[in-house]
Amino acid sequence: MRIVFVGPPGAGKGTQALRLKDYLGLTHLSTGEILREAHEAGTELGREAASYFEAGKLVPDDVVVSLVAERLAQSDCLGGYLFDGFPRTVAQAKALDAILEAQGRPLDLVVSIDVPQDDVLRRLASRGRTDDNPETIQQRLDQYRALTEPLLDYYEHQGILRRVDGTGSPDEVFARIQHVVDQARQASG
Ligand code: AMP
Repeated sequence: MRIVFVGPPGAGKGTQALRLKDYLGLTHLSTGEILREAHEAGTELGREAASYFEAGKLVPDDVVVSLVAERLAQSDCLGGYLFDGFPRTVAQAKALDAILEAQGRPLDLVVSIDVPQDDVLRRLASRGRTDDNPETIQQRLDQYRALTEPLLDYYEHQGILRRVDGTGSPDEVFARIQHVVDQARQASG
């Protein structure tokens, strides 16, 4: 299956993505992780990206899209994958659709993990990542609302969006995700 995970920072996307990856045997594609690794390795991409993510801003679409296009061409993506943190803008979603259309392998499912803002703030405050200080947290939430939330409408129109209640324990949330994934699997035969 080809799946996209959407949700505000702190919704538990990363944790749930890793569980779902194991459940379905998919390749996990986290653009945030790829960008942090590039930064740690000291590459030019990493240096450019860090100036954005350290400020809680989205890395420019063309940078992220070319990184994803390269990654999708690798053989471990043939059996299906799970995007975690991509796309984050409608422009990225359209670029992804164009890539997948050319491959003849469209997305099967978009899972939105819905969590109220208070929960998100509490979770982020306890996570301790370097881009999790109060100013960048607010900035990332603002960016999520302005740039990423419109994706939900975009995928709703395509009929592939499923919304999952992201409150409760990780086990409870994962059970809800399994449920929508199993339904989508049955529907696609
Ligand atoms: P994440 O680990 O998904 O929270 O991503 C960490 C940071 O990497 C984000 O705050 C952005 O600055 C950057 N980033 C990750 N994925 C994307 C994306 N799809 N588009 C733009 N920026 C991204």
